[in-house]
Amino acid sequence: MPTIFSKIINGDIPCYKVAEDDNFLAFLDINPNSIGHTLCIPKIEIDDILDLDKESFEKLMLFSRKVAISIKNVINCKKVAISIIGLEVPHIHVHLIPINTMKDANFSNKISLSSSKFTEIATLISNSFYCV
Ligand code: AMP
Repeated sequence: MPTIFSKIINGDIPCYKVAEDDNFLAFLDINPNSIGHTLCIPKIEIDDILDLDKESFEKLMLFSRKVAISIKNVINCKKVAISIIGLEVPHIHVHLIPINTMKDANFSNKISLSSSKFTEIATLISNSFYCV
């Protein structure tokens, strides 16, 4: 049974896509802590990041770094927090969370956004990504 993130990769369910290359995909978290909360995933389905080979781990981090810089360029925030949890979805994902206070880094603190706002944010970050 493919993970929900594999279904996104395969185009079986939609996402608010931010960036993509041959190996990785970045899209907005559907239940964000803050505006611009983004997930970066490898296109191969592995649950635990510690099971990823070293080279792919490094590449995922470099991809995530580029996405994080793109977020910082267009979202008003003090920092972009980088977090790997994976208790909910068994498919490696790096959370990139724009933060102004520790409250924004708290996964029990959620915001709700309209579909048009998600689209607007994804487009902003994406345009920044492809300009970096
Ligand atoms: P965790 O596995 O605990 O790191 O959290 C999984 C994250 O995936 C949560 O922040 C969810 O809001 C997010 N998520 C789950 N399903 C989707 C989806 N279809 N599109 C975007 N984000 C999702």
